[in-house]
Amino acid sequence: MKRRVCLLGATGSIGESTLDVIARHPDRFEVAALAAHRSVDKLAAACARFRPAHAALLDAAAADALRARLRAEGIATQVHAGAAGLATVAALPEADTVLAAIVGAAGLAPTLAAARAGKRILLANKEALVIGGSLFMQAVREGGATLLPVDSEHNAIFQCLPPGYAGPHSAGVRRILLTASGGPFRSRRPEELADVTPDEACAHPNWSMGRKISVDSATMMNKGLEVIEAHWLFGAPSDAIEVVLHPQSVVHSLVEYADGSVLAQLGHPDMRTPIAQALAHPDRIDAGVARLDLAALAALSFERPDGARFPCLALAYRALEAGGTAPAVLNAANEVAVAAFLAGGARFTDIAAACAEALERVAAERADSLATALAADARSRAVARAFLDTRAAAPRRGLAGAH
Ligand code: NAD
Ligand code: MG
Repeated sequence: MKRRVCLLGATGSIGESTLDVIARHPDRFEVAALAAHRSVDKLAAACARFRPAHAALLDAAAADALRARLRAEGIATQVHAGAAGLATVAALPEADTVLAAIVGAAGLAPTLAAARAGKRILLANKEALVIGGSLFMQAVREGGATLLPVDSEHNAIFQCLPPGYAGPHSAGVRRILLTASGGPFRSRRPEELADVTPDEACAHPNWSMGRKISVDSATMMNKGLEVIEAHWLFGAPSDAIEVVLHPQSVVHSLVEYADGSVLAQLGHPDMRTPIAQALAHPDRIDAGVARLDLAALAALSFERPDGARFPCLALAYRALEAGGTAPAVLNAANEVAVAAFLAGGARFTDIAAACAEALERVAAERADSLATALAADARSRAVARAFLDTRAAAPRRGLAGAH
């Protein structure tokens, strides 16, 4: 039987890669629903191509425009709107698989709805797990859902773990090693980072991604969020998760075993590989990705990350160790600061400073409900905004033009 897929975040980078893989296998997959924020043109084009029974846009006016457009084109897709519309398509009885690729905290509610409805969840939206880790894992257990990682590192680890794995020190596993490219500023002098531009930060050397995760890669907050993601996905404490810099992004992550073996998953840096692995699991299918030519790779190198250049990584470990709502606080401050940086309203180095400020000022609480996690998220956003406003008002030395 075909897998019927609901794609949350259909118009983004992961969404487009997913549709590319699905289009290669019409015998295996069918698109049941497509959801996004407000891009009417892109979603209308995807509806015309994949003919899902349902679509959803968060923005109500955009949903009206999509409905009118599809009707005029004779496309019988039912259009839903708002947060309720997203939750509806995430829990549709007609879909068995939900690929969660909304960016940021906005992805949490619909992905939780998919977990409660017992779906096979293919998770790209790492922020959902960072904010709502324990609640999300509980919803997966109680809803009878299955969780498969799409984030390339976590998908690599998933592929390298043994059957019967139940946390580090089970099934012979000792540690998880997450690789990180180091992004575009891996060799930039730390004192130059204050004046880098959004376009420089988004020019990732190996991966083509949405702008928010590209900035996260440049600060290495992305790796910090991934350490927290790995904690929840693989039940690993922070001291069993190590980050290693690997500039070529060919080794996607590794698992170290008690006997000294280290297993790795390699491939071109192309998200269609982990997407296809998760979509077809346990089968393997063509993802349209070029074959890895080992002889053509000049070399693979590894380094320890530089804590002074990448303070966000230590902040993420600190938030994970503090537990409770601390990761939600970190994530919210980061979302605010990255959005401000992308809009030209904050410096690159303000991102780590705003996150540190929020962790300092917003006390961690037990994350025992969605309301508690979202309240911590809201408090952190307010602290980060106030902090960035103060920074923006302060005179800046040597800052000319775009920043
Ligand atoms: P993107 O910015 O390219 O796309 C984001 C998608 O989310 C779009 O479809 C947009 O319409 C939708 N969206 C944004 N805000 C929304 C809201 N409030 N409600 C509903 N929909 C909303 O982002 P991306 O690069 O595709 O990343 C998506 C997620 O996958 C992120 O969590 C990211 O960390 C994760 N991820 C991405 C990559 C990658 O290579 N791009 C790799 C690993 C993990
Ligand atoms: Mg990743």
